[in-house]
Amino acid sequence: MEKLLEVENLSVSYFTYAGEVQSVRGISFDVKKGKTTALVGESGCGKSVTAKSLMGLIEKPGKVKPESKIIYQGKELTGYTEKEWNTFRGKECSMVFQDALVSLNPTMKVGKQIAENLKNHESSLSKEEIYQKSLEMLKQTGVPDPEGCMNKYPHELSGGMRQRVMIACAMVTHPQLLIADEPTTALDVTIQAQIIALMEELQEKLGMSIIIITHDLGVVADMADEIIVMYAGEIVERGTARDIFYHQQHPYTWALLQSVPRIDDEDKTILNTIEGNIPDMIYPPKGCSFCTRCPYAMKICEEEKPKVTHITDEHSVACWLMDPRADRSGVPFGRTDALSLIHISEPTRPISIS
Ligand code: SF4
Repeated sequence: MEKLLEVENLSVSYFTYAGEVQSVRGISFDVKKGKTTALVGESGCGKSVTAKSLMGLIEKPGKVKPESKIIYQGKELTGYTEKEWNTFRGKECSMVFQDALVSLNPTMKVGKQIAENLKNHESSLSKEEIYQKSLEMLKQTGVPDPEGCMNKYPHELSGGMRQRVMIACAMVTHPQLLIADEPTTALDVTIQAQIIALMEELQEKLGMSIIIITHDLGVVADMADEIIVMYAGEIVERGTARDIFYHQQHPYTWALLQSVPRIDDEDKTILNTIEGNIPDMIYPPKGCSFCTRCPYAMKICEEEKPKVTHITDEHSVACWLMDPRADRSGVPFGRTDALSLIHISEPTRPISIS
């Protein structure tokens, strides 16, 4: 399948007085045309920093490190000037944020805000054409009384309506890539479902790719073609929604899944929390970043980074439990028969697992 975006070895650090905060550490992934990729993980795992770097929005003291590559339709973006990023943003790639009330301009009517984005990228359009296109986009988001809505200020709309307006602002230029950063977190569940359905509908109509960022795996269960689980600035597991929900292999993915409420849970099981905190990213652990919180940690986990194991072309995991010598007894996740499918790269030096 054709790739729209390829991210290779992306590393982003913030250079603070306390030291170098290594927010994103050498991640690689791609986004296919017309498909949805979900970046999942708890706050501080680097997913929003990743999204910002794809839009050229990393500001000082942050820096995208020189070894990083962001390739969009064959073009390398990391060397872009501010002017080139400005053309790219909005036209090729747009972003929807969590809190529409903060992101929308409170002093500007909705219609003007949608039109503004279009004007910046389609200078040849007349005033009337801009109005009509903005109105058409607002209609497509399902806002009731779109003409009336064009003349309202953001504070006059409900949270769900504001989120629809923000999607209209992002989509009015028909970008190839939509990045949605926690787009439903501030909404109640029924509105959440409507916003997700709207993004899927627009994707089908307009054919764009979506990167959705969330801490809640439940939000992307039906929507994502690929799920990338991040922890402490690294990718720990990636796979299709089926891989992640039914055959997950990483203790962190399993822990995240245990914290998603299930509608069919008649026993009202108490939701799991993950004890402890993410590591200090100025001094990230030498071995596996999850080792201080992982109930299955072995000695080697503290000493050496786990290799990436490819279970299938689409499903991979970075965990020492994938090593054939590891004792998986008592490990409650994933299918043990999947182990027979595993191809594991040969370790570069002898390892001991204890
Ligand atoms: Fe746990 Fe070790 Fe796997 Fe890390 S590598 S997730 S510490 S078992």
